Amino acid sequence: MKLTVIGFLGGYPDHGHATSSYLLESDGFKLLIDCGSGALLSLEEIADPLKLNAVILSHYHHDHTADVGVLQYYWQLHEKRYAEPVLPIYGHTLDMESFKGLDWPKSTKGIAYDPDKALKLGPFEITFFKTHHPVPAFAMRIQEMSTGKVLVFTADTAYFPELTDFVKNADLLMTDTNFFADKTGQKWHMTSTESGQLAHDGHARRLLLTHLPAEGNLDRLKVEAQTTAGDDMQILVAQKHISVDI
Ligand SMILES: [Zn+2]
Ligand SMILES: [Zn+2]
Repeated sequence: MKLTVIGFLGGYPDHGHATSSYLLESDGFKLLIDCGSGALLSLEEIADPLKLNAVILSHYHHDHTADVGVLQYYWQLHEKRYAEPVLPIYGHTLDMESFKGLDWPKSTKGIAYDPDKALKLGPFEITFFKTHHPVPAFAMRIQEMSTGKVLVFTADTAYFPELTDFVKNADLLMTDTNFFADKTGQKWHMTSTESGQLAHDGHARRLLLTHLPAEGNLDRLKVEAQTTAGDDMQILVAQKHISVDI
């Protein structure tokens, strides 16, 4: 499977870069994971948004959902609109008001995922793990069924040790790394060193730092993460449109 970064910033878009959104492809199936601010513009540059097969949302913070509305209009109004069924958007139902917004006539249909059950979606099987965040948010462990390869996306979360089991042996671990190592005070996201620690303890094969801060030297994030991940860990820093074969 192939992961392409559509948007990688946390909180708000900046200097032409979108917030959380990732395109995961396998066997012609295109799954958009999160749909943050600026995601649709970024997606349009590399793929046809009408060719998406599904969208899945980790939680309903705006930096993960801001472009759902315009994606719904795109599917509703675009002149090229194919005679396909509506686009399914998977979300949790712990916030019913947000979940109901995933329905749009002749465009998209909200489909609930049950975080306690595995979800079969196209070529993928997805399991969920509730994270530590101010609103209900779910990390996703996505297995490509034909190969057994695993992508784990932490979604938004503070570091907590129970995550380690969930990320175990991921072929690619994609972590919320919104903070540099010296961040103090309340943290609802992980620091660079916590991301590295999680990858190390969970024996991830590769680490992709994402949900990045808009300010600061991102190379420093990688250097810091390497100190806890270990020298052997291959660490990538998310950038617009980089692709990773998993
Ligand atoms: Zn976020
Ligand atoms: Zn969030």
